Amino acid sequence: MSSVPVAVVTGSNKGIGLAIVRALCKQFPGDVYLTSRDPQRGQAAVAQLQQEGLRPLFHQLDVDDLQSIRALRDFLKEKYGGLNVLVNNAGIAFKVHDTTPFAVQAEVTLKTNFFGTRNVCTELLPLMKPYGRVVNVSSMVSSSALGGCSQELQQKFRSDTITEDELVQLMTKFVEDTKKGVHEKEGWPNTAYGVSKIGVTVLSRIQARLLNEQRKGEHILLNACCPGWVRTDMAGPKATKSPDEGAETPVYLALLPSNADAPHGQFVSNKTVKPW
Ligand code: NAP
Repeated sequence: MSSVPVAVVTGSNKGIGLAIVRALCKQFPGDVYLTSRDPQRGQAAVAQLQQEGLRPLFHQLDVDDLQSIRALRDFLKEKYGGLNVLVNNAGIAFKVHDTTPFAVQAEVTLKTNFFGTRNVCTELLPLMKPYGRVVNVSSMVSSSALGGCSQELQQKFRSDTITEDELVQLMTKFVEDTKKGVHEKEGWPNTAYGVSKIGVTVLSRIQARLLNEQRKGEHILLNACCPGWVRTDMAGPKATKSPDEGAETPVYLALLPSNADAPHGQFVSNKTVKPW
């Protein structure tokens, strides 16, 4: 078994994820795994970074596929005996003018952004080694979408005692409410992406709390963040940051030094903790 530290970035064949792998290859003292649901796109991205003189490793990972997540989990357990850095970056967004019915957009978006991210956490968080760092890439849109929720929902999403099961029930209810055409009446904002990212931010707050309660002595730090508005296939060419600039906050959180005890359980943007 290798004692080399190991970092994994989900959805890293392009965009911000690829830029996070590039930065970690330069700064993280260990093996860095570029992962992709499609091995060909993943290997092409590895080749691109190799051209830049970097040495990322590759593993397949589709966050929508529990078998794929578990295969990565078993690989990490066997080869490294755990994991030091996990960046949950994989995500999707329908374009603003996409005509796909809203209920379908809700189901598909929540599936990857919330349920996929949660499944990766369920399988990989138990592997995190002491002083491990977990970064869940959310979005400022989670804050604006929270503001668009009913007072009752806002209270639930800001609660310091909400459980993961309760959050899963709420995310499931959103999808069901869109199918019944009652989501606005039920207090939800009209954004599937926004609700999925509320899920990611609240999940991060819950997971950080559980680490405090159950694994305090292990000094693991877990945060959600916004990368900013970044020029990728998702956000388009008019966005203000390059992918490398978008990687800065996630990489800062992934490399928090071993003597740091904060931030933890926070929503971070431009390397600054934001109110939730
Ligand atoms: P992007 O260029 O579209 O890249 C998204 C990445 O996620 C791709 O590698 C994609 O793989 C992967 N992915 C999608 N579904 C997946 C799945 N089921 N399993 C594994 N990988 C999957 O988008 P981006 O702008 O870099 O976004 C990265 C993250 O930042 C997302 O979580 C996004 O919500 C967040 N974010 C972006 C912005 C922005 O302005 N760009 C702002 C705030 C937050 P494929 O190539 O196979 O599709």
